[in-house]
Amino acid sequence: MCGIVGAIAKRDIAEILLEGLKRLEYRGYDSAGLAIISPEGQLQRVRRVGKVKELQDAIDDNPLSGYTGIAHTRWATHGEPTELNAHPHVSDFIVVVHNGIIENFEPLREMLIAKGYQFRSETDTEVIAHLLHDTITKEQCSLFTAVQLVIRQLKGAYGTVVMDTRNPDVLVAARSGSPLVIGLGVGENFIASDQLALLPVTRRFIFLEEGDIAEVTRRNIKIVDKNYQLVEREQIESDIKYDAGDKAGFRHYMQKEIYEQPIAIKNTLENRIKHGLVDLSELGGQAENIFSKIEHIQIVACGTAYNAGFISRYWFESLAGIPCDVEIASEFRYRKRAKRKNSLFITLSQSGETADTLAALRLAKELGYLSTMAICNVATSTLVREADLVLLTKAGTEVGVASTKAFTTQLTVLMLLVAKLGRAHNMSEQTEKAITHALQALPNRIEQVLTFDSQIEKLAARFIDKQHALFLGRGDEYPIAMEAALKLKEISYIHAEAYAAGELKHGPLALIDKEMPVIVMAPTNDLQEKLKSNIEEVRARGGQLYIFAQEDSGFVSDDSMTIISLPHVEEITAAIYFTVPTQLLAYHVALIKGTDVDQPRNLAKSVTVE
Ligand code: GLU
Repeated sequence: MCGIVGAIAKRDIAEILLEGLKRLEYRGYDSAGLAIISPEGQLQRVRRVGKVKELQDAIDDNPLSGYTGIAHTRWATHGEPTELNAHPHVSDFIVVVHNGIIENFEPLREMLIAKGYQFRSETDTEVIAHLLHDTITKEQCSLFTAVQLVIRQLKGAYGTVVMDTRNPDVLVAARSGSPLVIGLGVGENFIASDQLALLPVTRRFIFLEEGDIAEVTRRNIKIVDKNYQLVEREQIESDIKYDAGDKAGFRHYMQKEIYEQPIAIKNTLENRIKHGLVDLSELGGQAENIFSKIEHIQIVACGTAYNAGFISRYWFESLAGIPCDVEIASEFRYRKRAKRKNSLFITLSQSGETADTLAALRLAKELGYLSTMAICNVATSTLVREADLVLLTKAGTEVGVASTKAFTTQLTVLMLLVAKLGRAHNMSEQTEKAITHALQALPNRIEQVLTFDSQIEKLAARFIDKQHALFLGRGDEYPIAMEAALKLKEISYIHAEAYAAGELKHGPLALIDKEMPVIVMAPTNDLQEKLKSNIEEVRARGGQLYIFAQEDSGFVSDDSMTIISLPHVEEITAAIYFTVPTQLLAYHVALIKGTDVDQPRNLAKSVTVE
């Protein structure tokens, strides 16, 4: 899950590695380190607990010179975030950075200890360093060959980049479950776990495929595939325009990304609605054929993307009339399940590298679903490459760990799909037009809701001493309540739970007292009357109510109830719209509490471990 950067050049590379790490910090950030081979062939390694800034400060104090090196930001899986556990790890002349988990590290560790190797860290990673050292010493082979021999012994999903201080002209990278990309320069080459890290030095990339091992020198790239056969991989010119290094005047990426939602949704809708009808011709001719056969939809995802999938279940069933199930990827992949006939398998992931989601997609292909579809924000991701059908969200780069614009653009794409699949079944043209109309109005509606920012900021002050919060909703607002609770937990560390409002009396009502804030998602719809009864149940027990409603709701603020009256929105897209004030609430509560909004503790952006 960490970030990896490597460089091999004829100029000092310390700054390139550090800049790369900063751009990858979203992937993990509990410690960082780099190793550079000096022009005299000496290994220089610096590691620090904490963020890349700590490492940068250490290197500013003692600048490093050298042309070949590797660097890493860690998201600890085995061993605490200490300096000794930070990467790169070393075994004599071998230096290793690694992303992911070596599942069989324990027997390997024992075997290596028996051979006399001393372990200096508690990580699983260190076995790679010693195994390579052992293999090279025994076989007298090249680093490239040694990696091929060692990889066969490793189980798990990982990416690794290694070097040998005795031969600074080579870096070797292996991809086995988590992404790696080679950046091509002139007389210099680079490696990273995300192209974003390398955009300051190149725009030409080779994306390694699953199982690839690459030998990278200043002028050459040699790649073997998972069967150890030499292969050529296509060079791709990156057209990423957005530079993630820019907060554009906002205080945090998350704040910027909340504010980017109108434009992100507009971009996601572009060219996908024509004359009031949904146009997904980008899916190719075979899609129409598949769509008419679909009798069931299975959605599988993790975290925020799971919540997006859960909301769409309400839409697929109520608007398109297609039965739909939603499951968390880490559950789906490890249970025995009965597959429905003619089922479309849909996965969602911002990064397209989420390990559990990817594994679920591969399993779905094995199980023989009618077809598989990925809804994803990164066009070059593994998920996109492996799914049969792809719909991209056009949110632009999302840096904040707590997902905002990726979520609302996922919902936008799902709603387009609801219309498309609905029409392939029994949905009327009139309903399709109502959907496209609501979607096209949505960017403006969200602009309006964003003007409530200062009102929500004031509200946030009331959460400062709270330990717990409860979010309630009914219908497609129930998953929105789940997403709102998740946002508050993630960035403000307040324990938050979401309940379907009708469930309150089956348990959680016992929690209600005057210390418990209860946030209710209450758009104007058929369920509002039912919701009002649930609100009264809370009121009668002294709970503090915060109600997100619409101007026409008839709710009136009083001592026990604060109403946030939002402007009109079309009922079809109300769930997407109601997400925004809850994002602002979580953001402002976190701000007041002084937590690290963009990089909350213990989390990382792209979850490439299972
Ligand atoms: N499993 C390794 C460790 O705990 C790598 C974790 C990561 O991906 O950062 O050090």
